Amino acid sequence: MTTLGGTAVVTPAGVVSPGAVDVDGDRIVAVRPARSPVPDRILVPGFIDLQVNGHDDIDVAGADEDGWERLDALLLAQGVTTWCPALVTAPLDAYGPRIERVARAAARSGGGRPHIAGVHLEGPFLGGAPGAHPGEHIRAIDPDWLAALPDLVRIVTLAPEVDGALAAIRALTDRGTVVSLGHSTATFEEATAAAEAGARMVTHLFNGMGPFNHRAPGLAGAGLTEARLVVAVIADGVHLHPAAVTTAFRAKGRGGIVLVTDAVAWRAHRAGRAEVALSDGAPRLADGTIAGSALTMDAAVRFAVNRCAVDLEDAVAAASTTPAVVLDLADRGRLVPGARADIVALGPDLDVQSVWLGGVEAG
Ligand code: ZN
Repeated sequence: MTTLGGTAVVTPAGVVSPGAVDVDGDRIVAVRPARSPVPDRILVPGFIDLQVNGHDDIDVAGADEDGWERLDALLLAQGVTTWCPALVTAPLDAYGPRIERVARAAARSGGGRPHIAGVHLEGPFLGGAPGAHPGEHIRAIDPDWLAALPDLVRIVTLAPEVDGALAAIRALTDRGTVVSLGHSTATFEEATAAAEAGARMVTHLFNGMGPFNHRAPGLAGAGLTEARLVVAVIADGVHLHPAAVTTAFRAKGRGGIVLVTDAVAWRAHRAGRAEVALSDGAPRLADGTIAGSALTMDAAVRFAVNRCAVDLEDAVAAASTTPAVVLDLADRGRLVPGARADIVALGPDLDVQSVWLGGVEAG
């Protein structure tokens, strides 16, 4: 058994300070007050990013063996221990090989790398606010294609206003796939009907959707007020004003909001097939449209805490606990006895100091 100590340990029941986490094998066996001196660090559950298109110069849609290894290292450096590679809108026949590529990466043997929980398909069944998604590949819902998706696909982002959306949401929900609503100009009523049909999430709240209007609150308003919908936010200081992040955290409360990066391979100047360049803090198409982010999960936590008046416990819930709930991963996202010992040590400035995967220190 090993024991990790810290001046603070963030648990669902509150902060234990100073605290200790006892680990046996890959599991946490106890979280308790520390009885001996501890390092000046904050222990939190490993972060879970539900939307990663790539990082640095590696696009998940085209990563080779070496690319996946580098992605692993980049994710660990930001405290991510579980993640969902995201595939953006493409021709239908392009998805098979890409999903297969992720399947091979997820099946690699050996430990010491963040866990791939499944694929997040963002598109191609999008609606009135496609953002950077290539319009020529956005298409009508194909129920047979959706029904044939492998189980590795865990999240599908679609627009609730398109024809056949409610039936697709019901079918995906029945097979255990999380439906997230996004890239949409749905009305409040359409979005609420989608939640009624089983949708559980809103993809990057406020971005890629109609604006929140006080008479016509749209998908944003439904996301903020509908308890069945968890909203994802990109807290990079570019996609959202800090006040929008604060609004979302306050409206949703703990358990209703997740932090995602929506990061892309910005240094390779690629987001899917589109060409992007970093300008004003985010990767953009030539016309200025934001195409994903250059964000990391640790930076998202810092931004929420330092700029958006979000307390650390709420930020950790949004970075770790709630995404685990969205994915129905009951064994992680919380520092509690019985959970996987996926643990991040943050310094006083919330910088990532160390990461443990199943009780084994990475790096
Ligand atoms: Zn998007």
